[in-house]
Amino acid sequence: MPDIQKLLSAAKQAMQQAYAPYSKFKVGAALSDNAGLIHSGCNVENSAYPIGCCAEQAAVAAMILAQGQSIQDIVIVSAQKNPCPPCGACRQIIAEHSQYNTGIYLLNEDNSLIRYSVEDLLPQAFSPRHLDGG
Ligand SMILES: [Zn+2]
Repeated sequence: MPDIQKLLSAAKQAMQQAYAPYSKFKVGAALSDNAGLIHSGCNVENSAYPIGCCAEQAAVAAMILAQGQSIQDIVIVSAQKNPCPPCGACRQIIAEHSQYNTGIYLLNEDNSLIRYSVEDLLPQAFSPRHLDGG
């Protein structure tokens, strides 16, 4: 299983590839899947602003493409000094593909990583079990 420092490095690399000509807000995300493989993504903006894609969504898409089943841990970084928490939509997407112990790591100003659980960031998340009343 990849350690968090490897994910941090992959997230920073992904961030460098971000396409953010409008906001200049580059974001990178890297996750380890249930098999220990690393998948990363960057944000991709668009001149039609609302249709941009977040780094976390891109990383999850890469995991799905590679047939990963679930997120073990995910690290999210931005080019800003402050921690970059996932937006509401990404919290829902992460929750959909999480495990019971998935860790969401944000980079603090002092370069330390802060760990959150899915429940921390999206309490009472809507999940597939709600679709069938379970
Ligand atoms: Zn997002």
